Amino acid sequence: VDSLKKRKIAVLGARSVGKSSLVVQFIEGHFVESYYPTIETTFVKSVSHKGVQYECEVIDTAGQDEYSILNANHAIGIHGFVLVYSVSSRNSFDMVQIVYDKIVDFCGVSDIPCVIVGAKTDLQQKQVDQNEGQKLAQDNKAAWIETSAKNNVNIGQVFEMCLGEIEKRTPHQAEP
Ligand code: GDP
Repeated sequence: VDSLKKRKIAVLGARSVGKSSLVVQFIEGHFVESYYPTIETTFVKSVSHKGVQYECEVIDTAGQDEYSILNANHAIGIHGFVLVYSVSSRNSFDMVQIVYDKIVDFCGVSDIPCVIVGAKTDLQQKQVDQNEGQKLAQDNKAAWIETSAKNNVNIGQVFEMCLGEIEKRTPHQAEP
């Protein structure tokens, strides 16, 4: 019997961009208005990707600023990263590159499995347009997608894309 493949995914980004809402919508299928911003939580969910069943451990991180946003726990033993900004916050968008560079530093490899997420697309007040998000992702060889946790748009796709980015970089083992 094939053992379940375990994949650890860390969700990172500036405060209030909607990380918890994204993760809770993915795991529990509903939208939470507010959550404890300072508590790091780990969720587990089984996800099927390209016919393979994965056990995803999703870490909803709780860093407050560019210094605390990433610690060694978020870079060691993590298979993939979801970097979230809010389309209504320029600052949160700028934070993505900072966090990405920190991950690269920590991991010591230049090509990390990563999905950049533009969250809260249901908001009217936009400060970051789609082209900018796409360009940032391209420059860093990452995937990119826009989401709304509130309206449940593209939430599952984030984690499927992340599994795709992880598997792309995982050398396939020869069958015994
Ligand atoms: P975190 O600090 O990054 O984990 O952010 P939260 O998930 O706690 O969300 C911060 C605030 O943004 C909360 O008031 C959420 O209700 C709100 N929020 C999260 N996702 C969305 C979304 O997709 N659309 C809208 N309009 N608000 C959202």
